[in-house]
Amino acid sequence: MKKMSPMMQQYLNKKEEYKDCILLYRLGDFYEMFFEDALEVSKALGITLTARDCGDNKKAPMCGIPYHACTNYINKLIGLGFKVAMCEQLTNPTKGELVTRDVVRVITPGTIMETELLDDTKNNFIACIFCDNFGFGISYVDITTGDLFTVQGDATHCKDKINDILTRVRPSEVICNMSVKSFYTDLSSYVVGIVPKATDYYDYAFTMDRAENHICRQFNIMSLDKTDIGKLRHCTIATGALLAYLQDTQKRAMTNITKINIEKDKNIMQLDINTRRNLELVESMKDRKTKGSLYWVLNKTRTAMGARLLRQWVEQPLQDEIDINNRLDAIEELNNNTIARESMNQILREITDIERLCGKIAYGSISPRGCYDLKCTIEKIPEIKKVAGTLNSILFKNAYNDIVDFEDLVYMLDKAFDKEAPANTRNPGYIKMGFSSILDDYKSKASGGKNELMQIEVKEKNLTNIKNLKIGYNSVFGYFIEIPKTQIQNVPQDRYQRKQTLTNNERYVTEELKILEEEILNAEVQMIKVEQELYEQIRQKLIANIPALLQTAKVLAMLDSLMSLSYVALENNFCKPTINSSVKNTEILDGRHCVVEQMLKSDRFVPNDTKLDDLENRVIVITGPNMAGKSTYMRQVALIVLMAHIGSFVPARSANIALTDRIFTRIGASDDLAFGQSTFMVEMLEVSNILANVTDRSLVVLDEVGRGTSTYDGLSIAWAVVEHLSQNTKAKVLFATHYHELTQLEGTLQGVKNYQISVKEFDNSVIFLRKIIKGGANRSFGIEVASMAGLPNSVIDRAKHILIALNQNEINFKQTELTSEEKELQHTQMDKLVSYISNINIDLLTPIEAFTAIHDLQTIIKEK
Ligand code: ATP
Repeated sequence: MKKMSPMMQQYLNKKEEYKDCILLYRLGDFYEMFFEDALEVSKALGITLTARDCGDNKKAPMCGIPYHACTNYINKLIGLGFKVAMCEQLTNPTKGELVTRDVVRVITPGTIMETELLDDTKNNFIACIFCDNFGFGISYVDITTGDLFTVQGDATHCKDKINDILTRVRPSEVICNMSVKSFYTDLSSYVVGIVPKATDYYDYAFTMDRAENHICRQFNIMSLDKTDIGKLRHCTIATGALLAYLQDTQKRAMTNITKINIEKDKNIMQLDINTRRNLELVESMKDRKTKGSLYWVLNKTRTAMGARLLRQWVEQPLQDEIDINNRLDAIEELNNNTIARESMNQILREITDIERLCGKIAYGSISPRGCYDLKCTIEKIPEIKKVAGTLNSILFKNAYNDIVDFEDLVYMLDKAFDKEAPANTRNPGYIKMGFSSILDDYKSKASGGKNELMQIEVKEKNLTNIKNLKIGYNSVFGYFIEIPKTQIQNVPQDRYQRKQTLTNNERYVTEELKILEEEILNAEVQMIKVEQELYEQIRQKLIANIPALLQTAKVLAMLDSLMSLSYVALENNFCKPTINSSVKNTEILDGRHCVVEQMLKSDRFVPNDTKLDDLENRVIVITGPNMAGKSTYMRQVALIVLMAHIGSFVPARSANIALTDRIFTRIGASDDLAFGQSTFMVEMLEVSNILANVTDRSLVVLDEVGRGTSTYDGLSIAWAVVEHLSQNTKAKVLFATHYHELTQLEGTLQGVKNYQISVKEFDNSVIFLRKIIKGGANRSFGIEVASMAGLPNSVIDRAKHILIALNQNEINFKQTELTSEEKELQHTQMDKLVSYISNINIDLLTPIEAFTAIHDLQTIIKEK
């Protein structure tokens, strides 16, 4: 290393500190990468690999990206899973001296501040997991919005709980302590790609003392003694380690993180990974896109803040009936008040993302344009407060009290910026005239000087008689008088001093020009300095307002989410559910599946009723043909129950919903080859998880349990599961099956009831009526559905033949085969048909002969 050039030594020292990152090393207008980083990045981004002398007569592989266009490249690198360390020049280049450089920021997937790289409607969380023998803590934060949450749990089923939380939060980056690392890759949320690989962070960051220190420093407090988080050891450690990591990577105060939200398990409906996926809460199963999900139907928010909050609502159904009813009451009031709804809608349309602007304020990257946008938003706040004041529901009353009025801030920002405000502060002049008399003074000196320059130019033209004399400027020589070489004989040698010679021109200065130059440059330097100082003062004022801005932003997000739910309820004819912890029944009249309903293009969605209680109607065994709508029906019930817990109106004519602690679903067959588990094994693991965790207040949806094994094994398991659920719990269960034998359980087991989805048989085919009715089906019409799906006729005929044999209990492969005589007969009939049809001369056929021909054909067929 000693033989390397000083610059290369500096590079290697920095790289050593940030081994796990791609080091972007600022060299003038470029960020350069060397050695391994250069090889890796040139390949990953497809940029040219070059080389640079690095001392000792050697060349270092090198590639670079222009600094002004680095955002896109960095985005790609982050997307490819790299971490990026930005090593900037901290001193100006001077001849012979090495520029001081240091890493000013590390960018990782969870610490992106560039909002243009993020989805507005989603939080970008980084999560920190701490686990020991006594339990676990998970803290997660979105540094662009300042939302920080923490949750902890004991050691029982600790991995499952961590898995469920990660599935809900979907962090884009995970850090953890070593004991988490040991099981993290087994978590299904990791295996199926919902969460990224975890990085183990220094173990000493996960000690109580250090963690407390970091939290105290962040929130400017002396100790955690009297705080809520202080009582939660795992939450404290996870939060402290997370803040330490942010400090390490961001290297600046994150003043927009103003509070720790402690999540309590009992406040949120626990949903496991299967249920979240099966019910397609925020993305569809098919392509993991928002379209086709519950969130897709419910999200009609007007602001990014509302869209993010509504997503959280969908992912975290509530458990507290008061909280739920508060939302329902607010939506009802909005539905009934067109004027309030319309006014709020108009105002929300003009509200910008205050949360992410606060992130930029805290981070020091707010632009004059951002300040102007903020002004436009906060000046609307009194209007929305006024509308909230006209409403009576508790949430609107709270909103009215919590919305802060930013009159002073609006006044200041309005005075400082207009709609022409630029998106950066590179060029001076971004603060409006009239904001500061000192700044205005320097501005007029700078521009007045420029007028004087023009006057000098005119004067010198007249004095020298050189028509194409002109005054110019460059950063090295300052202001000069430029004269074409052809005219130099007219230059007044006594007043003009030569400054620079070019091919065709000579450049001069005069005493007068020098004095003016100093005045102009002085005024410009002062103007820039004063403008920067004023801008910083504005930023400091904004920083002081961050807590109030964030509090107001949360209220606006809530109003927007309520408005969205109100809009969707009215648009789709949803009803207000009754939800009450003392009610044990779930009764839905004319329930619908809100996503399928919207997806159906031509068909009308057929509504269905549901009755579940804790006595006679606990386990509903649903039978019926394939394609009849069993899965849709069961998902619809689960979604209606879930929507009611979100506090949303539901797609039904009326709905009484029992307060439900968990919803479990086991739907469809999926191999988890990555887990090394077969379809059947996955199915059984899911069922076993359900049976282990179900409570009397749970809703369980089981779709075709036992399908992945032999008929009798499957039937026996399905039977035993229904027995277990009906006898050992009071959970509400929907159980769809093609094992019609299970319909015998009605009347034998208390609480089990049979329902079927009705169909009509017509002309060897089935018509789906989509209506659920009492009683069990005795057929699945699988062959008819297969025929509708286009299986070859020969296969369908053969299947029917086998089915008849099987139904006559002749479950014997040999007996289902055609005998040789039968086969012979089939051939003869076929030959006869073929020759008869080919001998018909259609051109000569009269109508009556055509009838006769059809009659003959029928006779041949009937010969069988
Ligand atoms: P299988 O037993 O073969 O899995 P299934 O009985 O579970 O079938 P679903 O998958 O629920 O049937 O429904 C099949 C299709 O029928 C759905 O994709 C949907 O388009 C339509 N469908 C279901 N229910 C209804 C309804 N109530 N109204 C209108 N269309 C419906």
